[in-house]
Amino acid sequence: MQVSRQSATETLNEIASFRPALKSILDAFAPLLEARDALAQEVMADLKNRQITLPACQASRLSLGVSLLSDQDLPDLGDSYAKVAQALVPQLEKIPALSQLPTPLAQVFQALSVEEQKTLCEAVCTNSPKLLTELATKYQLDTLVLNLAASFVVSTLLRGLCKASFEADQEKPWDTNNIWQKGYCPVCGSYPVLAWLDKPVIDERNTYLHEGGGRKHLYCGICGSDWRFLRLACPACGVSQSRQIEILTEETNTHGEALDWCTKCKSYCPTVDMRERINIPHLDAQALGMLHLELIAWEKKLKPLRASFWNTFA
Ligand SMILES: [Zn+2]
Ligand SMILES: [Zn+2]
Repeated sequence: MQVSRQSATETLNEIASFRPALKSILDAFAPLLEARDALAQEVMADLKNRQITLPACQASRLSLGVSLLSDQDLPDLGDSYAKVAQALVPQLEKIPALSQLPTPLAQVFQALSVEEQKTLCEAVCTNSPKLLTELATKYQLDTLVLNLAASFVVSTLLRGLCKASFEADQEKPWDTNNIWQKGYCPVCGSYPVLAWLDKPVIDERNTYLHEGGGRKHLYCGICGSDWRFLRLACPACGVSQSRQIEILTEETNTHGEALDWCTKCKSYCPTVDMRERINIPHLDAQALGMLHLELIAWEKKLKPLRASFWNTFA
């Protein structure tokens, strides 16, 4: 059977069919996720034309757990910040927290200096809204509001940059020989928004080559990268002790969805098992579609590995 990769809207519609109570919120975010995907493609094409890519990955740095961007500046993205912001703003303004701001977002992103662009990127990748305090004051914005808008703009740019730098569907340098062992992103350093377990791989030319699937990958909701990770380890603590990870899931009709949570640090990560899905879900849409489990996690006083727009302003 041909397996297809779903668009954001296809995944959100599928999840809404499992879970009608979430339909209105999923529908509300579909245009924003679609706009980000389309814009990341445009950024990719633009950067490829200008031959702008990320610096090359070095195995020695990866083996020490140093993310590609942790101590390196982004290449100069020129007017891409303003272009992306301009195109995303109409969608961003549909989020209640981002409508009717004292300074319109398009104006803020248009005015950013190169230093301010770097600050925005660092704040988003390290999940440190406090870095934006000065900038937020300058534009009379709430720090968390600026951080939310920045996370969409920066994530669109970084996704475009990653697409321009690495071939899709090819093994990434950080997965070669499992050199990357960390729970944070090898490119931008963010914690993942989702984990996924892969489908079995069947090589029709060689029936002896058959992998059973179920390997764990973590997915970065900022730069869109994914990387392999130990199945039973906690991405935040980095260690795996027996019974450290517990699984929270619905009793029936799970559709492969669960939350893995760590009994030591109380952080959780939504997880989807692709073996229980016919088509490959869109990962950002899938992460958004697991709100029902995040609500249970919130009641249990667990915290997300990476705060997202839906669990920050819920
Ligand atoms: Zn990343
Ligand atoms: Zn932990």
